[in-house]
Amino acid sequence: MAAIDGLPPLREVIREHELVAKKQLGQNFLLDLNLTAKIARSAGDLTNCDVFEVGPGPGGLTRGLLAEGARRVLAVEKDARCIPALAEIAAHYPGRLEVINGDALDVDVLSHLTPPIKIAANLPYNVGTELLVRWLTPAQWPPVWDSLTLMFQREVAERIVAQPGDNHYGRLAILAQWRTTARIVMSLPPEAFTPAPKVHSAVVHLKALPEPRYPANAKILSEVVAAGFNQRRKMLRASLKGVHPQIETLLEEAGIKPTERAERVTIEAFCRLARIVEAARQN
Ligand code: SAM
Repeated sequence: MAAIDGLPPLREVIREHELVAKKQLGQNFLLDLNLTAKIARSAGDLTNCDVFEVGPGPGGLTRGLLAEGARRVLAVEKDARCIPALAEIAAHYPGRLEVINGDALDVDVLSHLTPPIKIAANLPYNVGTELLVRWLTPAQWPPVWDSLTLMFQREVAERIVAQPGDNHYGRLAILAQWRTTARIVMSLPPEAFTPAPKVHSAVVHLKALPEPRYPANAKILSEVVAAGFNQRRKMLRASLKGVHPQIETLLEEAGIKPTERAERVTIEAFCRLARIVEAARQN
């Protein structure tokens, strides 16, 4: 099968640069360039966008993003062994790919990009959720990025898009859906990766809303949701005891039964409660 860009097939790149996958770096590579181009397309039109990619590895998704017309890709890769392979891609797309050898948890590069900015990554499983939470909790909203297109373990993807009453509904669903529209756009079996992981994966696309779906103080909302889900089997009047001494009255004021459990409360109702708690604390 012809490559999408005239560069060597990824199997050859991996062989030539001796990129034996390291488990501790979450290295499960995508070698099918048609698949990586499809993931890149699920990020939407890239032609006028700067894209930030975490963990390019041998460059499968990077090549997809560039072939789909990204104006510029800035990628951060922890594994120094991948840098020469990525340099070959950069040479093929002059001025469009910059690679930093570093840890995405330590380097803050978003400020180096020109809007509109999209983030796309086949995330290392060990750091995926932490990066997502950081991107979803910037100091200011709207964030500098327009959308996130991210590969996760299927179970994490389900936690992001879960609805009240679903098994997976919790803090991550509320954090994500309060200020973005989040959907699963692709599901992938373990065999899509080399080496194959134990679990299925899914790509989630999150588009930033211009403002939160419902008004609420982010800190208080996060506090209320964390307290509610830390003891998810308990009734809210018990799990939220520490939030406010009159929590039972405040829950009723918010239209939430004090005997309800967090897993059945909508984001709208949690936001209403956060506003009522904030007002009550000011009195
Ligand atoms: N994007 C490639 C692909 O789709 O084939 C590789 C994906 S692999 C699941 C995850 C990549 O993230 C690996 O290349 C790994 O070395 C890199 N990585 C792991 N932890 C990282 C971190 N903290 N910062 C940057 N890159 C990291």
